[in-house]
Amino acid sequence: MIVLKSPAEIEIMRQAGRILADIMDTLIDKVKPGITTLELDKTAEAQLKKSGATPAFKGYRGFPRSICVSVNEEVVHGIPGARCLLEGDIVSIDIGVRYNGLYSDSAVTVGVGAIDDEKQRLIDTAKEALTSGIEAMTTANRLSDICASIQKVIEGHGFSIVRDFVGHGIGSELHEDPQIPNFGEPGHGARIKEGMVFAIEPMVNAGCADVRIDNDDKWTVKTVDKKPSAHFEHTVALTHKGQEILTWRKTHP
Ligand code: MG
Ligand code: MG
Repeated sequence: MIVLKSPAEIEIMRQAGRILADIMDTLIDKVKPGITTLELDKTAEAQLKKSGATPAFKGYRGFPRSICVSVNEEVVHGIPGARCLLEGDIVSIDIGVRYNGLYSDSAVTVGVGAIDDEKQRLIDTAKEALTSGIEAMTTANRLSDICASIQKVIEGHGFSIVRDFVGHGIGSELHEDPQIPNFGEPGHGARIKEGMVFAIEPMVNAGCADVRIDNDDKWTVKTVDKKPSAHFEHTVALTHKGQEILTWRKTHP
C-alpha cells in the first residue's frame, strides 16, 4: 500500500532533505585523493548530530556506519573504512537521514580528481536517468512510467541497469511501498498521486548488469565483471506544484 503524505509530513521531510543536502555538499567538497572513506563517514556523522538528526543507515539490519561509500566496481552499500580514495576513482556516497520521525535518502557519484571519459559518461548517464525518472513522476503517469523513462536513458547510452536493487517509497520508514525498479514497460502500476514521496535511484553499470554481495563484509554490492558503477538518488515529493526534490542541492543532482 502506498501511503500518501500530508503537507505537514512533507514539510518535515523537506527539513530532513535539507539536512541531508548540506551534508552531501560537505562530503563532495572533501572527496580528494588521499582521504579515507571512514573520514567521510565521521564528517557525516558529526554534521548529522549537530543538525539534530540521526543516520538512517547506522544499525539498519546491522549496518555498522552512518553512510554508504562505494568505490569504482562497488555499486552500493560499501562500508566506510580504511580505504583511501585515489586519483581517477569514482565514489558513490549514499546518505539516509531520520529527522523528527521521518526520512530522506539521497546518493551521488563523483570523480576523485581527474577521471577518464568512460567513467564521466557513466556518471552523466546515471544523473540523466535520475532526472528523467523525476520528470516522469506526474499525475498523468503510472508508476512504471518512472521505471521505463530511467531504463530508456541508461540503455540509450549503452550501459547496464542494476536489477537487484530498486528505488522505493519513503516517509515514516526508510523503505516503504512501492518498489521502483529502474526498468519496466510503461503504463503499469498505480496512478501517481499528490502526496506520494519516492526515493528514485538509478544504479548504472559500465559493463554487465550482474552484481554480487561481497563474501567478507556481507554488505558491499559489487559488479561481477569489476567494471565501475554509478548511483544517483533523490527523495522527491509530488505536491500541488509538481515534483519537488526534497534532497535538492546547489550541486544538483
Ligand atoms: Mg540511498
Ligand atoms: Mg534509497
